[in-house]
Amino acid sequence: MYDLEEIRSRVSLVALAESAGARFDNPHRLTSSCPLPRHAGDRSSRAFTIYDNGRKWKCHSSCPADANSGDVIDFYRYWKGVDFKTAVAELAQQANVSKQAGTALPAAPSLAPAPAEPNPTWRNRAEQFVRWAEGNLQGEIGAGARAYLEKERGLFPETWHAFRLGYNPKTLYDNPVRWGLDGKKIWLPRGIVIPGFWHGEPWYIKVRRPRPGELLEQYIGAWTKQDGLANLKFGGPRGGKSVLFRLEMNSYMPVLFLAEGEWDAMLLWEYCPDLCDAGTIGGAGAKFDTLDLALLTRYLAVLVVYDDDQAGEKGREYITKLGALSSRIIPIQPPSHDLTDYWVAGGNNMRSWVAKQVSSALDNFLNCMNIHSDIAHQLKMIRDLARFEAGSENDSR
Ligand SMILES: [Zn+2]
Repeated sequence: MYDLEEIRSRVSLVALAESAGARFDNPHRLTSSCPLPRHAGDRSSRAFTIYDNGRKWKCHSSCPADANSGDVIDFYRYWKGVDFKTAVAELAQQANVSKQAGTALPAAPSLAPAPAEPNPTWRNRAEQFVRWAEGNLQGEIGAGARAYLEKERGLFPETWHAFRLGYNPKTLYDNPVRWGLDGKKIWLPRGIVIPGFWHGEPWYIKVRRPRPGELLEQYIGAWTKQDGLANLKFGGPRGGKSVLFRLEMNSYMPVLFLAEGEWDAMLLWEYCPDLCDAGTIGGAGAKFDTLDLALLTRYLAVLVVYDDDQAGEKGREYITKLGALSSRIIPIQPPSHDLTDYWVAGGNNMRSWVAKQVSSALDNFLNCMNIHSDIAHQLKMIRDLARFEAGSENDSR
């Protein structure tokens, strides 16, 4: 593909017409006898005009109706008797316009409007459920879930408290009226409860459910028929609204890491709070809405890391397209299947990998900044820390 606008702006239509034989000797108007070979009649009149600041031409007398006007590319076609593609390729060569990979910019995907908050009854009931589940996690009944969080997810008690994680020991079906909803009962599946908050109130609740054959079963008991749907990883009460997960818990670092899911976001928050902010839009299939994008504008770079699988690949494609909206949103490949897997292989390696991404994002930014500004100075300090961390790979966990 060639950038047609670039060709149009680089190739002079006047010069091209002159090399075809046109003579523009009236100083006030670009008119000439028509130089085109298909002009079928008298060539003595000044039937050929260039207008629109030299961008368009028209023959007012004897060229065929389908070939008597256009831009510089059309002129070349009718002059040389070639097709559009050939005309573009030959003009591009003359004007030194090189081929691009793909089209100019991918079209930006359309954004959903900001979600309305869940109704007050929903938020109230959700808060009750979250508090109850928090109590379960801390009690005797939560021992298995606590072990799972520490051993398999790398999350410490401080982190569960901060994120208000909980445990639901038994699948429940709640009255929809209590959630301000109609219709079917509200499904509160058994599993580890992960609430998403916005301005201090719950907006959504995800429950990580045990699935047949999974590690989680060893910690909180095997999947049973009462648990319902065997293949669904996450369940939870309907009626919630997705929002960037716990963005408010961050400290406004210049770089934001958006992970594919809540687990990775919490792990980043726990291990790398001095390097980056962390969040998730909740799954590789999730799409940004305008609220999300507004929240992201404060960051110099938003590094989006999706899992190394098919869903993650689709997510990365989507993020690449979002680059048309903001070049600060950058998809990156995870160092392992996901960050939690990488943590399992050695916590410090994850930290130095994050540090590397942060320092290169800040390098890019510093390169186009006035290096004497205060902001540049602050950025440099963070970058230097990140560089130092990036060099400390292979430390023991
Ligand atoms: Zn003509």
